Amino acid sequence: MERVYLDYAATTPLDDRVFIKMMPWFKQDFGNPSSVHYFGQQAEAAVENARKMIAGCVGAEPEEVIFTSGGTESDNFALRGAALRERENRGANEILISPVEHHAIKTTAEQLRDHFGFEVTYIDVDEYGMIDLRDLEQKINPNTAVVSAIYANNEIGTINPINEIGKICHQQCIPFHSDGVQAVAHLDIDLKRDKVDLFSLGAHKFYGPKGIGALVVRQGYSLIPMVTGGKQEENRRAGTHNVPSIVGMAAALKQVQDDRLMECQRLTILRDTLINEVLQSVPGSKLTGHPRMRLPNHASFVFEKVNGNQLLILLDMAGFACSSGSACKIGDPSPSDVLLAIGLDPITALGSLRVTLGRETTKRQVDQFLQTLPSVVERARKLG
Ligand SMILES: *Cc1c(COP(=O)(O)O)cnc(C)c1O
Repeated sequence: MERVYLDYAATTPLDDRVFIKMMPWFKQDFGNPSSVHYFGQQAEAAVENARKMIAGCVGAEPEEVIFTSGGTESDNFALRGAALRERENRGANEILISPVEHHAIKTTAEQLRDHFGFEVTYIDVDEYGMIDLRDLEQKINPNTAVVSAIYANNEIGTINPINEIGKICHQQCIPFHSDGVQAVAHLDIDLKRDKVDLFSLGAHKFYGPKGIGALVVRQGYSLIPMVTGGKQEENRRAGTHNVPSIVGMAAALKQVQDDRLMECQRLTILRDTLINEVLQSVPGSKLTGHPRMRLPNHASFVFEKVNGNQLLILLDMAGFACSSGSACKIGDPSPSDVLLAIGLDPITALGSLRVTLGRETTKRQVDQFLQTLPSVVERARKLG
């Protein structure tokens, strides 16, 4: 059986060209970038070159890029580091986030509330999961330590008006973090234009290796470090650099950026075919997330009277790898917070399906999926 991978929002396969660029740094060029000698200098040059490339791809300065172990650590670092810093500097005590954040932000905010004495306030979103700017303007206040709003949603694909959010935060001088982990592969990111102070990326969502990411921190802003130890990353994140992965992340990011316009066009056509056909051929189906302001590779639905987990298993048996929305929800029978936040009732929210496309997705695969889905949904409904 041919297996069709339609879960690029969960992770992407490593780009072959990237893999080749990573290889020397595992063995021949194994030096520690912090060492003074030749071996160290070679590794350091590779890390600094990667930093420059990454900064160039997102409209940042090289000094603003801090390497981390992935999107999760970047989110943790941004939110916790800014909250603690702002409380120390000016006594601010409130964290303002959207209710459709990734778990890496949501759970970190809850920990700051439950164990560090912060208050967490949620900004309203509309039925598509887009931030309500007027509500943000009303809720932001001098006690706000940090604002966090996801750039493009992993579960429902909606793209937030980041530039507008950035403007509001900037006017109030409140640091603004955006989780860009899903956005980086598909959107034109310019952190200066959008006034984003803190920006998370993770390489495995754009055909880079797993376990590596970066946090971009606006120049002059200093977070309270989370990982303490040596003086790496200008004392902002300790620990010996993961040189092969850093090299791989930069190469992967450069490659997706070079391919971006063509690939976005191709994926948008496939995505729109997929969305339109699913809505037409599956009774009781509904698109979740914004119909237009959404990631070009992202389609997400809810189906009436379907158990989403059951649907995933049946699809997998038919050769299609999809998701219910978030890879972090394996075996969790409770409905997604994101789907509840956009106003779905808990029963409907359990019938969710996310189909995300990528480099290796073909028209033929999408057609095969569309041929299979209606009968699989029928079967899931009968199983109850
Ligand atoms: C995948 C993802 C993360 C977590 O990144 P990891 O590198 O897997 O830790 C955070 N935020 C969003 C929006 C994601 O899609």
